[in-house]
Parts: sequence; structure tokens; C-alpha cells
Amino acid sequence: MPQSLSPSGSMPALPATVPVAVVGAGYAGLSAALSLRDEDVPVLVLEGSDRVGGRIWSRRTENGTLIDHGGQWVGPTQHRILAWAERFGCKTFPTWDTGDHLEAWHDGTVRRYRGSGPDEARGADGYAEATARIDELARRVEVSDPAAAAEAEAWDSETVHSFFERTVGCPDARRRLALAVQGVWAMEPREISLLHLLFYVAGAGGFAQLMDTRNAAQDARFHAGAQSPALAAADHLGAAVRLRCPVEAIDWSGESVRLTTTAGEVRAERVIVATPPPATAAIRFRPGLPTARARWLQRSVMGDVAKVHVVYPRPFWREDGLSGIASLYGEDAAGVVFDNSPPDGGAGVLVAFVYGDRLRRWSRGDDGERRACMLQTLTRLFGPAAAEPAEYVEKIWPHDPWVGGGYAANPAPGAWVAHGAAGWRAPCGPLHWAGTETSEVWNGYIDGAIRSGERAAREVLASLDQ
Ligand SMILES: Cc1cc2nc3c(=O)[nH]c(=O)nc-3n(C[C@H](O)[C@H](O)[C@H](O)COP(=O)(O)OP(=O)(O)OC[C@H]3O[C@@H](n4cnc5c(N)ncnc54)[C@H](O)[C@@H]3O)c2cc1C
Repeated sequence: MPQSLSPSGSMPALPATVPVAVVGAGYAGLSAALSLRDEDVPVLVLEGSDRVGGRIWSRRTENGTLIDHGGQWVGPTQHRILAWAERFGCKTFPTWDTGDHLEAWHDGTVRRYRGSGPDEARGADGYAEATARIDELARRVEVSDPAAAAEAEAWDSETVHSFFERTVGCPDARRRLALAVQGVWAMEPREISLLHLLFYVAGAGGFAQLMDTRNAAQDARFHAGAQSPALAAADHLGAAVRLRCPVEAIDWSGESVRLTTTAGEVRAERVIVATPPPATAAIRFRPGLPTARARWLQRSVMGDVAKVHVVYPRPFWREDGLSGIASLYGEDAAGVVFDNSPPDGGAGVLVAFVYGDRLRRWSRGDDGERRACMLQTLTRLFGPAAAEPAEYVEKIWPHDPWVGGGYAANPAPGAWVAHGAAGWRAPCGPLHWAGTETSEVWNGYIDGAIRSGERAAREVLASLDQ
């Protein structure tokens, strides 16, 4: 871990000036800093919390099982995070998907299946047609400027919910599509525009890339946790990463930019802000940001997601021929469950994702109610052994003080057309913007975060050359 404390325990003073300051030490901020360091540009990273990684946080449970509270998977076309994995020697292993998957349908029935869905699954044809249509429309979106698409205004005026209502006749197909949207965006289909969905699909290389496990976004996990490349990058950056330095204000009225943190002030020629949009909006900018950028930030809304890890002595469901993967279409808190056991199967870990309206309902319960509700679902799926876990660990991301939700922020319907061109990520004088939300490829993912940091660093390098 980078040093935030001197040997005596006191904070080393921040330097008075630095050529480039980066705000936020998630993958985007670390990537910006690493790119600049690789070009011998001195950089200082100011991170508000007491760790690096942001929405990626790998921790051991009390019994020593490694879990990822936040992002965990990488896919084969996520070339930038894979390049980091290679650079820092962080090994991955395939996501466990051997055996029968489960589908808990909204009428209470639970079915086993292999492949992409149960044979003769209700609504499967309508789902396939709709996702093919989405892929076709997504090919018309230019990811570097989504609002420039000929149909952008119509698409940004329509929610994904109304698009499905209008174009998908079969209610069961709409049910499948709704769960897919919740699973990928941690939002309800009524909360995002069709244009944003198409942009996101285009940047990932197709709907199946977002949804599938093998050879897609859920393909593999990191042996040492998804935070391990971030920790290695921070180690490489050393004292340039300062933890517990939340940036409260950025004054860009003068020749240099003044950043006010709770640990003191720093002046920089250029600043890369790599915080989630709502966290960026909470920083006091003086002068205020241009209207398009300010409105874009105000209208970028974090998704609502929680991850629940339930740890057992062994992955007992595998003995029943089950993969541990389940999709739930009813009222359960969990929308999807995966086998998140360590690669050697030395413990059995189920991870349940709770998102959108499910999270809003479930998180109203107290600790005991939430746990009981989750264990009831897992018992229904995997049998009585699921009722007696060794450990139960929740991370409810909307409660996280630094990122306030996940997986990412998505612009509200209409925001792309109204403010996207100027507000999405165009630099404002000496201020540059990174963060997965500013990436054209794999937006919302670790890979997108790294790409965004690299792009912001290129902008800064070009400006320093002038
Ligand atoms: C539950 C969950 C599951 C996910 N699953 C996956 C997955 O499997 N695969 C995948 O690729 N992606 C996944 N994601 C998304 C992925 O985690 C994010 O896209 C990515 O980590 C975002 O990185 P970032 O650097 O842009 O932002 P962040 O990681 O949010 O980093 C921003 C940093 O800024 C800091 N900060 C905030 N305010 C201030 C301030 N005022 N001053 C200083 N610092 C500040 C924060 O503490 C944080 O460290 C998931 C996310 C969640 C929450």
C-alpha cells in the first residue's frame, strides 16, 4: 500500500506545487498517474478514502476467504485491464460455470438448465429477437460522440422500459430483458434512455459481451482479488499517492489550479479529476463549471447495487451438479447468484447481486431481516445446507461515502442530447476528466476506467507540450 503516514504517524506535508494533480485513486486516477509517470511527468494523486481502488475492494473475511466487494470480473476484450494484469503479474482464473444453472421464474418454479437458457424457456425467442435488434441499433452509435447519431434525439427521449413495451410483445421476454438491464446497469429499464443503452452496448462490442460469462464480461476473476492490479500500481507510484486527502474545493481562477484538501493545499498546472460524477459534483469549483458540464454531472445518476457473499465450508452445490449460477425473476432480493469460491474450491462462496428496485426494497430491512431474506432465497435454490453459512458479508454500495453507488453513473434520459457534446468529458481549461463514466469503450467497467485515465493523461501531455 502507498504510504499515507510517515514513520512517526504524522501525515507528510503535501508539496506546495506539482505539475499534475489527480483527484481519486480508483483505477481511472491510478491509470492517469501511471501514464504520466511512465512519461516522467511528476504527479500527485489525492485520494479521499483510506485505500486505493474505489469501486474495487478485495478483502479477506474473518475466516480468511478473499472476496471482492465491488468489481471482480474481466473479459477477453478488456485489453487494458488485462495489460495491467500482465504488467503487474496478477493472474486470473476462469469463473466457475460448470454444471446446471438455475432459473427461478416469477411464478415460483425453479428449473435447471445448461447453456444460455432452459429448453423452451418462456420468452426466450422474444428476448433473442430484442437483443439482436439492440445490437443492430447499437452499430449506428458512434461511441466517441453518441449524441451525433441521426436518431439520437428520438432514442434519448425514450426509456429502455418504453422501448421494450413498444417493441417486445411477449411479457415473458420483457421480464427477461428487464432482469438483463438490472444486471448490467444496476438500474431499472425506466431509468435509462435507449440511447445510453445503445452507446454502452456499442462500447462493449455487443449485448452478449455484457451478459455472458465465458469469453465475455464475466469470464475470469483475479487470484489475488480485482484490487490487486490497483494495489500494485499504487505501490509503483509510491509516495505520489496520498490517502485520506479528500479534495473539497478546486479554484481554477488563477494561472495555476489550487486544490484544497483536508490535509492542506496544493497548486498544479493541470488537474485530472477521476471521481464518480456525483462525487465530482460535490467538489466546490471556483469559478463554477460551465453549464453543460455542471448539468451533465447533476444528471448522471449512480446505479443501486449490493453484493452479498455467503461463505460455506465447501461448494456443496457442485456435488448436486449445480454451477451456483442462478437468475431470479420474482420478488427475491437477489437478481443473480454466482459461485464465487476461491480457485481451489477450499471454501464455498455464493455471491448474490441485489440491484435497482430489489435493493431499495431489501435495504429497508434491518441486518437480521436482510440476512434472513437472502438465506431463504439461497435455501430455496440450493437446499438446506445453504441456510447455515460460516460467514455472511454484505456491501451496500449506495451507502459507500466515497462512491455512493454502482456499478457506475448513467446519464438520465435526455442528458446525452442536451449536454453530452460539451458536458461529457471535454476539458475545462486546466481541468481534465477521467473515470469509467468518461470512457467510450467498456464504459462502466474497470477496463473503461483505465482507458479514461490514459486518455486524460494524453490530453495533459499534449497541453504540457504546447
Ligand atoms: C458491486 C460492483 C460490481 C462491479 N462489477 C464489475 C466487474 O465485475 N467488472 C468490472 O470491470 N467492473 C465492475 N464494476 C464497475 C467498476 O468497479 C468501476 O467501473 C470502476 O472501478 C470505476 O473506476 P473509477 O476509477 O472510474 O472510479 P472509482 O473506483 O469510483 O474511483 C474514484 C475514487 O475517487 C475517490 N474520491 C471520491 N471523491 C473524492 C474526493 N472529493 N477527493 C479525493 N478522492 C475522492 C473515491 O474514494 C475513489 O477511490 C462493479 C462495480 C460495483 C460497485
